[in-house]
Amino acid sequence: LALGLALGATGCGTRGGEAATTGGAADNSGALIGIAMPTKTSERWIKDGDAIKASLEKLGYKTDLEYGDDKIPQQVQQVSNMITKGAKVLIIASIDGTALSDQLDNAAKAGIKVIAYDRLINGNKNVDYYTTFDNEKVGVEQATSLLTGLGILDDAGKETGKKGPFNIELFAGSPDDNNATFFYNGAMKTLKKYIDDGTLVVKSGQTGFTQIATLRWDPATAQKRMQNLIASTYSSGAKVDGILSPYDGLSIGIISALQASGYASSALPVITGQDAEAASVKSIIAGQQYSTIYKDTRKLGDQAVAMADDVLKGKTPEVNDTTSYNNKIKVVPTFLLQPVVVTKDNYTKELIDSGYYTAADLK
Ligand code: BGC
Repeated sequence: LALGLALGATGCGTRGGEAATTGGAADNSGALIGIAMPTKTSERWIKDGDAIKASLEKLGYKTDLEYGDDKIPQQVQQVSNMITKGAKVLIIASIDGTALSDQLDNAAKAGIKVIAYDRLINGNKNVDYYTTFDNEKVGVEQATSLLTGLGILDDAGKETGKKGPFNIELFAGSPDDNNATFFYNGAMKTLKKYIDDGTLVVKSGQTGFTQIATLRWDPATAQKRMQNLIASTYSSGAKVDGILSPYDGLSIGIISALQASGYASSALPVITGQDAEAASVKSIIAGQQYSTIYKDTRKLGDQAVAMADDVLKGKTPEVNDTTSYNNKIKVVPTFLLQPVVVTKDNYTKELIDSGYYTAADLK
């Protein structure tokens, strides 16, 4: 009997192998897919998670959607659990990607494919695919809209001849998020010329990434830094004319600090943002925040779902960038989407006509 079983097992293995070489991929229908999201404190990640889960389930997959609450050990544990539960693909928007290296190694050993979602995971070779928005372009667009809001550029991106000088302050995102330096570099490359020729004055002198970074993208941290800048750099009554903010949540904290120190709603600096979160779009409509960067999370979710479905069906996922995202070990094949600047002028077309929000969501 033992021999019979052993033979049977060998026979099975051989048949499996033959099937694979003749093109039949493993049957992964109904497979479990792990979705690890960083936090629920920002609306965008809730939209991302919900969209991915719904689309995967429509394709017949099982899902395990977890939020890390911006706590690294919690996300590490969640990803470990997904591997234990037998997930076949992991879709991960990391808090600090470098903290997940052991999990990625274990995933690779178990034949699990890893898709980095929105944020690249650095320092590990087992990142199979990446999908995101063009992060450097996000930074370029944020800085360009700051210049437009100040009247240095016109709507067509042409210089108006306005020379200021304008006082500005700069904020950056979380140092452990790979995207934050892309946003910063894109923005600084765009602002440099105007800082160099004196059109823009960073009055605090704080321009280095580490000086202006905001750990975990925490709005309260940005609010505190803005309060400190007002109390130190602007104590003599000078006004801030513009603020480069990389994320809507930070913009809300910054606006609170400015209002608390006496800036009227109608006399706030030009303030940028990112993610087109409902509260910030309302602030834009009310004339407080100037702009945001809209990244259609439905499209990003669809892309991650298509990648997961392809790898599970033995197909090679479509990518459109094989040079930009080196995770310090390898260049990760990437599908890049394009961000869109949103201001009071185009929010109806971009956000409501596209179905991203209903008009009621923004009331
Ligand atoms: C995302 C941004 C987001 C930020 C804070 C970044 O990784 O790309 O869309 O604003 O994290 O959540």
